[in-house]
Amino acid sequence: MTPRERFQAALDRQATDRVPIFYQHLGAAKWLLQSTGLKWYDGFHDPDIFARLALASYEMYGFDNLMAGWGDILVEAQAHGMAWKWPERDFYPRVDKYVEMSDVDRLVPVDPRKDRFWSVPLEAASIMLDKVGKEAAVVGCINSPTVIASELLGMENVMMGYFTDPDAVNKVLDVLTESSKAYGEALVEIGVEDVFIENATAGGEMVSPEQYDEYDKKYFGLVLDSYKGKGLRTICHNCAAKPFWSAQLELGPTAMHIHLKNVDPGEVFDGVRGRACMIAGVDHTEVLQTGSPDTVEAEVKNALELWGDDPGIIIGPGCEMGYKTPVENIKRLKESVERYGHRP
Ligand SMILES: [Zn+2]
Repeated sequence: MTPRERFQAALDRQATDRVPIFYQHLGAAKWLLQSTGLKWYDGFHDPDIFARLALASYEMYGFDNLMAGWGDILVEAQAHGMAWKWPERDFYPRVDKYVEMSDVDRLVPVDPRKDRFWSVPLEAASIMLDKVGKEAAVVGCINSPTVIASELLGMENVMMGYFTDPDAVNKVLDVLTESSKAYGEALVEIGVEDVFIENATAGGEMVSPEQYDEYDKKYFGLVLDSYKGKGLRTICHNCAAKPFWSAQLELGPTAMHIHLKNVDPGEVFDGVRGRACMIAGVDHTEVLQTGSPDTVEAEVKNALELWGDDPGIIIGPGCEMGYKTPVENIKRLKESVERYGHRP
């Protein structure tokens, strides 16, 4: 199987020759920037440079997909008026100024294809599809409406708004949902078939289950339905400390991507099995970033043994791999999946 066939078959819960490995954002970027001599800052401004960096991740680490979106989680928010800044040329941008809650009435939906920066990963996705699309899965990437709102207005302001100004919060989430739907249209137009959606605001450490249902779940559900209606496979990412994974699963994503350290893996596996593909997230901090290759191997072995032989399993990091994640750990992650995830 090609990496793309393997990745998409696992998402569809069909048999594969081995368990696929999922690459998130631009994980372990330091080695990619070093080997290409490219600057992260330039990748955000130029689709060709963005594509070259993403392609370098595929060549260097050899996972089964590459991604047309990075871990800044700010690109959609800046398209709606948040100002970002670049303290370093070789790191992600940061928030300079949020949009004021009093200005939310001025917000309007954005077509990502027309935004100076949001269009960059889309154009880069086209380049990636041209270069390796037959062989590898090029995965689209967006943040859920509540994640975008947190980066647009500031997380504390959104939380406060749930209590003091629900109308304003709903207005913002409506606008962001429309822009997110337009992003799905753009993906389909260029031929991307799978989309990753960051929804780590869905956690008990941040909101009550009632607030989650009223805001986060409602708008995430609208985006998911729109994407499913367009034939996109959807990957729901949640690396929250207390993830509402079960409620997210009810919305019917193609795959659930959960950081295993934050949950009882057996319970999550049993809940997801047969209902969605499971992307099992190996701890990206203490295991992948600061652990040894042997620890990485043990984690992969445990996860795959716990899952068993059913199709619909993918191994990935729990979230974007840290900037300086050691190459030997990434290499061992891949070798371990090949060893324990081999299917006769
Ligand atoms: Zn995450």
